[in-house]
Amino acid sequence: MNYQELWQRVLTDIELGTSRANFITWFQNTAIGDIKDQNSVIVYVPNAFTKEWLEHKYHKFILKTLRNILPEVKKVEYEISAELCRATQLTKKIAQPEIAEIQPEMQGLNLNIDQEANLNPRYTFESFIIGSFNELAHAAALAVTKNIGALYNPLFIYGGVGLGKTHLLQAVGNKMKSENPKLKAQYLTSEKFASELVEALQNQSMNKFKEKYRKHDLLIIDDIQFIAGKTKSQEELFHTFNTLYESNKQIVFSSDQPPKYIPNLEERLRSRFEGGMIVDISEPEYEARVAILKSKAAAKGISLPPKILEYIASAIQNNIRELEGALNLIAARTAILKTNLELTEIKDLLNKNIKPKKAITANQIIKTVSQFYDIQEKFLFEKTRRKEVVKPRQIAMYLLRQDFSGSYPYIGQKFGGRDHTTVIHAYEKISNDLKNNERLKEEIKNIRDLINKSA
Ligand code: ADP
Ligand code: MG
Repeated sequence: MNYQELWQRVLTDIELGTSRANFITWFQNTAIGDIKDQNSVIVYVPNAFTKEWLEHKYHKFILKTLRNILPEVKKVEYEISAELCRATQLTKKIAQPEIAEIQPEMQGLNLNIDQEANLNPRYTFESFIIGSFNELAHAAALAVTKNIGALYNPLFIYGGVGLGKTHLLQAVGNKMKSENPKLKAQYLTSEKFASELVEALQNQSMNKFKEKYRKHDLLIIDDIQFIAGKTKSQEELFHTFNTLYESNKQIVFSSDQPPKYIPNLEERLRSRFEGGMIVDISEPEYEARVAILKSKAAAKGISLPPKILEYIASAIQNNIRELEGALNLIAARTAILKTNLELTEIKDLLNKNIKPKKAITANQIIKTVSQFYDIQEKFLFEKTRRKEVVKPRQIAMYLLRQDFSGSYPYIGQKFGGRDHTTVIHAYEKISNDLKNNERLKEEIKNIRDLINKSA
């Protein structure tokens, strides 16, 4: 058995033990390099991101799988070599995932949706790609499916648009429904909840409405932020929540913000949302975007060279839906032209159809804050405690944390090597002040507008 064959067998075992999306993302372009001293295996990986991921997440699994075939193996090391990975590309053909056959959105159809539960089979855990940006949310969602109503209740997932909240929520429903078809599960948006409530009030069918929602084993409400400000809906949701919660039924919510930042949300609902598990999905970093594109392209059956994937990942920065949109465009265009597109053609296509938003940088935030308060930028970095500097500095720190997802130590570093506890203090101070200081709210809103315009 040569190395190639050995690795092939290992991969086959790994493929059975992992989801298809993860397999394609993390293993497809790996290769076995060498076996030193009979017991130390070198695995080539295409980039640092894959190396880190395999080392931290899959190492034990890989070692165990290798040992099943070569029991004398003691050590596995990962080496980056894009070249060698390409040279020993997998010969094994990876079957197209089933999702490629469904693709209801591309056809504008949703024929496969389970009408009652409102679950689209396209959104599964298997087709959900994991990276550090969504790892925790994924783990929490999966844990919920294994401990219905018992572990994290409610599960509250928040994050920006197009980052996979709906996908994950639906995956929870699909998994639970497939494992237990008798389970009463329903997915809906908070807007749907509100409009059904209005209808029930008009038709005097409130009892039916209450009964319907309170009999679920699993209730999933997406984009809960839209219920804010709607008094009657919030009241009804509160009672529905309590009924379900008290009988250990599972509730899952998503929102674009953590509960404490949803404006006009009733306090009692906020505290219910905060009573379970809150996890966020952040924006995928560059390497994760490349991985997502690679996996999605494979699922769509289009093959794109690395430099094209890298171009798309750098042009489209903040949203998985837009990454998919770009791939759909390219797939459609390729089908029409019946030939693979060159990089220049792809640039052209994306420029025309998708406005690539430049990512906001930390320096832009700092610059905008200092301009807004009309102070010199350098004062923000100095040790001065002058009042007219302290507040803008705290606001800049707050925005770096809130909008830029900077870590506390990173932000401290940015501001002249301050301790991370100073940053935490600033963040909490501004978060607190925002709760009842309308003027501050307005200022921060204006600053954000300016930052977005400059981006
Ligand atoms: P949100 O609800 O946060 O706005 P969606 O769940 O609708 O985002 O995701 C947008 C698109 O990106 C969907 O087509 C979804 O399948 C896809 N997507 C998002 N996250 C992932 C992921 N981790 N793996 C695979 N596809 C994803
Ligand atoms: Mg959504």
